[in-house]
Amino acid sequence: MHIQHNVDLAPFTTFGIHAVAESFVEVSTIEELRKAIAWAQAANTPFKVLGSGSNILVTDDVAGLIIRIRIMGRTSTVEASSATIHCGAGENWHSIVQWSVENGWGGLENLALIPGTVGAAPMQNIGAYGTEQSSCFVELQALDVTTGIVATVTKDECAFGYRESIFKRDLRHQMVITSVTYRLATAPVVNVSYRDVAEELHSCAVIEPQVADVFDAVVAIRQRKLPDPRVIGNAGSFFKNPVVDLDTYAQLVAAHPTMPSYAQADGTYKLAAAWLIDQCGWKGYRSGDAGVHDRQALVLVNHGNAVGSQLLELSMRIQHQVQDQFGVDLEREINVW
Ligand SMILES: Cc1cc2nc3c(=O)[nH]c(=O)nc-3n(C[C@H](O)[C@H](O)[C@H](O)COP(=O)(O)OP(=O)(O)OC[C@H]3O[C@@H](n4cnc5c(N)ncnc54)[C@H](O)[C@@H]3O)c2cc1C
Repeated sequence: MHIQHNVDLAPFTTFGIHAVAESFVEVSTIEELRKAIAWAQAANTPFKVLGSGSNILVTDDVAGLIIRIRIMGRTSTVEASSATIHCGAGENWHSIVQWSVENGWGGLENLALIPGTVGAAPMQNIGAYGTEQSSCFVELQALDVTTGIVATVTKDECAFGYRESIFKRDLRHQMVITSVTYRLATAPVVNVSYRDVAEELHSCAVIEPQVADVFDAVVAIRQRKLPDPRVIGNAGSFFKNPVVDLDTYAQLVAAHPTMPSYAQADGTYKLAAAWLIDQCGWKGYRSGDAGVHDRQALVLVNHGNAVGSQLLELSMRIQHQVQDQFGVDLEREINVW
């Protein structure tokens, strides 16, 4: 374990924003993680946990220790109808999805090409194209920073919701996820409920899609629609899609008949944050190097040398305008450091 000091964080987040971490360490075992936390506690300095930095906006230099999780490893147990996979928190999410698909195991294929680590996936219950990681989730292991003990956290205890879990709320800063277990189907039924996926498969003349077809379709859609952080700094969707009650929905749709919306099982309606932002005229906006992507209004971008505070300020202007124009609150999806 090698603790470094005054480390530029630009290479460690997908926004690519320059900011200096006072101290920085990569840990590849649970024991190293324990030592890193003990080091911070002994120095009476705060610490933060980092995966691949694809859901973080750094707005200033970071005091204390950043612990980058590099705990690797994957195992599988195959039974008649399911395969249980157990993955280290530092594993790359997409490579786990790809590995599952190559083995013919179904359940994660709609979540292909989401950047980041396995350990961060339960944090905001990553989701895309009609699926969330919670649909295959069994349990995870996490180190309690107070006791140093690794505990198992069950699915119920995780309290997963739309881009939500207990790790974003009550257990924030309390538990560091070290590994995650998923159960996948060995005779999978694919989920093509999402219109884009169905259309992509149709355009490729796939009649009876298999897991690998859905994986390929999702990869193709994402490569076409989403900006690649290696080309332009971004952290994917900056805001969550807002969920409103029936009365609010009825008023909005009466005033804006073309507004996209998705009825939820509990009687609420999910609105498309990208549409709301686009209607306010933000798509393609740029001020210095901070901007809004020109094809995807939900994605804020760093054109080169933006600083985090510029992007944060831009995000707040967008929130205010959406509130003024539609009376709807946009909640940030990304983590601000
Ligand atoms: C181009 C692009 C597209 C994206 N598309 C999607 C999408 O379709 N759906 C979606 O849900 N997300 C999407 N995201 C967001 C992002 O990929 C996910 O949130 C991902 O899970 C973040 O993983 P990470 O390792 O980069 O986490 P980081 O950004 O490093 O960390 C995110 C948060 O999790 C915490 N954390 C990280 N690892 C651990 C751990 N082991 N234990 C405890 N806490 C931890 C961090 O402290 C931080 O608060 C996208 C991002 C980009 C850049």
